[in-house]
Amino acid sequence: MELSNMLKGIQPQLARRLFDLSKQYDDVIDLTLGDPDFATPKNISETGCNAIMEGKTKYTANAGVIELRKAICDDIERRLNVKYDPNTEIICTIGAMGALYLATICLLNPEDEMIVLSPHWPNYTNMVKMCYGVPKYVDFYGEEKLKKLKDNLEKAYSEKTKCIIINSPSNPTGKILDKDTLKMIADFVKEHNLVVISDEVYHTITFNGKKHQSILQFDGMKERTILIDSLSKRFSMTGWRVGFAAAPKELINYMVQLNEDVAACVPMFSQYAAIEALNNGRESEKEICDNFYSRCKFLTEKLNEISKIHCPTTDGTFYLFIDIKNTGLTSEQFAYALLEKEHVAVVPGNAFNESGEGYIRIACTLSESKLAVAAQKIKHFVESL
Ligand code: PLP
Repeated sequence: MELSNMLKGIQPQLARRLFDLSKQYDDVIDLTLGDPDFATPKNISETGCNAIMEGKTKYTANAGVIELRKAICDDIERRLNVKYDPNTEIICTIGAMGALYLATICLLNPEDEMIVLSPHWPNYTNMVKMCYGVPKYVDFYGEEKLKKLKDNLEKAYSEKTKCIIINSPSNPTGKILDKDTLKMIADFVKEHNLVVISDEVYHTITFNGKKHQSILQFDGMKERTILIDSLSKRFSMTGWRVGFAAAPKELINYMVQLNEDVAACVPMFSQYAAIEALNNGRESEKEICDNFYSRCKFLTEKLNEISKIHCPTTDGTFYLFIDIKNTGLTSEQFAYALLEKEHVAVVPGNAFNESGEGYIRIACTLSESKLAVAAQKIKHFVESL
């Protein structure tokens, strides 16, 4: 069988590789994937189960049921004070992944370029390549690189640049883009007549009084922004597969049309569970955020007791991005050896592009008692080097 040449540019994901490898050990502490261990809150699960029993198991409109689109508009207005029309400017998708793919395929012509702030969630690279586009990486992690961000954006820009993707709070770094940085990116976007894809799937999980801000809120940005969000992390609903995009109606119209060809719609019962989550989920959202904060704080303190590694405090998400350069190992050497010797699975930083080399990512998706054991094992590993 002769397969598409496009596939030659697609890399298998290192996070998945570590996750798969970890399964050979019965006693593994797996901190690889961004899948929260909390159960979906009861009221949301019950609504989903009732929906199944009531026969809400059919196809729906490609954009999702109107009640869900209205709940999404209310949610966006409540947090960002920006209004969307549920009839024309919203699409519910199979997770944020579905929204990101549909948006990308609707934006890019072959060879068009997308600027990606890096280190970044690796799906962005594959998503652009699946649409025959070209990712252009701009490294922005750390004070020094952040200062040069404007210059580096200009350097990355070319006639073929169509859009830029940003993700705040960030997977893998846990950092939030502050208002000044967002304003600078917004000005860059307007000056070059670009579009922003703003992936905000972690916006409810922020710590230490740091608040998520959206690029959407700057003047003239609503018409240039595709807001991507999802219920996966926010309500511990990864398996329900509910995400959404809010964007200008010309784009949403085509995303809805193409959704017919890739997924048709989000499962109907998941859509009803999502309505319950968005309308009545404030407390659960806070509880999930508080739990992640306490885990991240706990593990950060434990890891910073270990010489040769440094764990910066995270602003949000549930990831820690740990500097391991002083161990003398590459991030892959570190991750593979840690798994083999101590049965602790983490993701090497180069999984998030070259700019992540010298780091490992830990997802705090297990209880504090398991994180405590992981910290001891990491200590033992580093001290034995
Ligand atoms: N965006 C980012 C930055 C993510 O980290 C993830 C999942 O890890 C997603 C999007 C996908 O979320 P969903 O489960 O809604 O497809």
